[in-house]
Amino acid sequence: MKPMMSKRAAASKARKSGSDQFRFFCNECGKERMHYVSDTKCVFCAKQRSKREAEKRRNDPEARKKRSDAVRKLYHQDIGRSREDQAAKQWRKATGAERMHAWYPEEQEAMRAVYAGLIEAKRGDEPDKKLKTFRQQGDHLIPKVGKGVIDGEEKIVVNGLHTFANLAPLSAVLNQQKGSDFTPDSCRYQMPANRHPGGAWDRELTAAERKHVEELWTEEGVPIEGSLRTHRDILDRDAKAYEEHVRKTYGMEISVDPSWFECRVSPEWKTLEALPGLGFAEEPDEETVGAFADLLSHEIQQMQSGEAAE
Ligand SMILES: [Zn+2]
Repeated sequence: MKPMMSKRAAASKARKSGSDQFRFFCNECGKERMHYVSDTKCVFCAKQRSKREAEKRRNDPEARKKRSDAVRKLYHQDIGRSREDQAAKQWRKATGAERMHAWYPEEQEAMRAVYAGLIEAKRGDEPDKKLKTFRQQGDHLIPKVGKGVIDGEEKIVVNGLHTFANLAPLSAVLNQQKGSDFTPDSCRYQMPANRHPGGAWDRELTAAERKHVEELWTEEGVPIEGSLRTHRDILDRDAKAYEEHVRKTYGMEISVDPSWFECRVSPEWKTLEALPGLGFAEEPDEETVGAFADLLSHEIQQMQSGEAAE
């Protein structure tokens, strides 16, 4: 078919009507084909071209390496952005969502910061075996696809959002163990993001936390008040990160009730006794200190003679 108007005119007509493609005769493939409005190139030919290039890369290790190096360089240029993009893509794939939540653009900066701070199993560009144990992932506190039990059957009960409030760094090992259970009754990080009773940072201990604090005291001699302070400080740190995000992102100030910071040791704990001979409650006597000092100096002497022998 003989073209009625120039290619450029056809493209501009299509652009005005709001489409991003238009039909036109392609000299290269000798047929009428769809063309991109953006660069007036034949869609079919462009696809063939990129297929050929991909094939060439597959067969040419040097080209392949060049491309993967370029991709890697781009990835590391803005690691937070790259990891977050990847995570958002995975979230859409897992949940089947077609788009991100409405306030996603507002949160991206904060979320990229979380991803940028994750510990990698690499030191510089080199893999590091020791760091592998500490490698972190961005954890969706309420799982992307969370399962719970309804009428004795395991079912999908929740889709956690890819939002700042639902995100935390977690060691990769733990993240993989954690699975996709949704149990907000026992897991405080699946509760709503606030400091109030029933919230993720409600400072009242859950049954499991209470048991843990008691065990730390009775079995290891860690004072209850110290455990409570640690518990409070960890919750405060996480709550503050969220409150800071809300302040920076939305210009909103969340007031915190000063009583949240009080440290209360409940009366029934006063009667709990730690195993004798444990903990830091008592100062060691002089004899123990002396024996320990002897042991140390002996070890040091051994180390030094070992070094000298080498
Ligand atoms: Zn063509």
